[in-house]
Amino acid sequence: MTINILFAAKSGRWETYQGPLTDALEEAGLDFDLRPDFPPEQVDYIVYAPNSSVQDFGPFTNLKAVLNLWAGVEDVVHNDTLTVPLARMVDHGLTQGMIEWVTGHVLRHHLGMDTHINGQDGQWRTQVPPLAQDRPVTILGMGALGQACAAALTALGFFVTGWSRSEKAVPQVTTLHGTDGLQSALRTAQILVLLLPNTPATTDILNAETLAQLPRGAVVINPGRGPLIDDTALLTALDSGQVGHATLDVFRTEPLPADHPFWAHPKVTVTPHIASATREDTASEVIAENIRRGEAGEPFLHLVDRTLGY
Ligand code: NAP
Repeated sequence: MTINILFAAKSGRWETYQGPLTDALEEAGLDFDLRPDFPPEQVDYIVYAPNSSVQDFGPFTNLKAVLNLWAGVEDVVHNDTLTVPLARMVDHGLTQGMIEWVTGHVLRHHLGMDTHINGQDGQWRTQVPPLAQDRPVTILGMGALGQACAAALTALGFFVTGWSRSEKAVPQVTTLHGTDGLQSALRTAQILVLLLPNTPATTDILNAETLAQLPRGAVVINPGRGPLIDDTALLTALDSGQVGHATLDVFRTEPLPADHPFWAHPKVTVTPHIASATREDTASEVIAENIRRGEAGEPFLHLVDRTLGY
């Protein structure tokens, strides 16, 4: 039987995905019909971006799974009309992009690059930066992206602590978990990287109380999600010197409004949600593998836990 696959994403994405997805589905040996439009009751799988026009899954009466193109699922996970398995995106290309962005921004602050980039003023500043082994970095969120970034940072010699919901062992990383572990994870963090999903349990996880637990002058790097941070508390901590700098890629409102104080703050670097993105070629392989699994009766990869919200 031909497998009917609906591609549901914003216009423009179909043109970029059609070729790579077709190649990957063929490579997986599947008999398929891939289109951006189908009568809902004929659809077996939806390749899905949460900002697509499909918001009611009710009419998709024969649906077997929704395969999210994004790593973050907060805009679809609470949709009551979705009753079939939901898989999120774990994509080698997306992971590699995040490793590069996080490593670059950690190194910027670790080496104090701004001193020399902004200070071409004839002064001979001779302060040598410490080695990575003397720079404790904490990553909140030790999932696909957090662990990959931890591996890259430990390979450079950084002393990495990772924090997650459940207990885990990660080579060369000091791991902590749960509410009890958070304070210890923050206490040593000269550089703090947020790679948590946006869920009710992680909203405002960085607030006045937890920011105060960081060493004075710590740097906050957030490529996770905007709601992880209480913006007002962060601005207060920046102004007091409790936080030395914040490099922020994600925001409660995106695009970040032009009058938001983050834009003008001298201790904030704004990047426009470009830390990483799903890459068509590698993501298509993941989608094709999941459809192959679905058809073979094997467990889907990267299933979302709807009760946890990620
Ligand atoms: P993931 O594999 O699901 O990992 C999430 C991690 O967060 C896990 O370690 C999980 O703990 C931990 N976590 C979740 N809730 C927690 C809680 N209440 N307390 C403590 N730890 C908690 O996700 P991922 O693929 O690494 O992606 C992480 C996030 O990055 C995504 O959700 C997305 O928001 C963001 N992202 C941003 C960009 C960008 O361009 N800026 C691109 C891609 C992704 P357990 O391991 O115990 O489950």
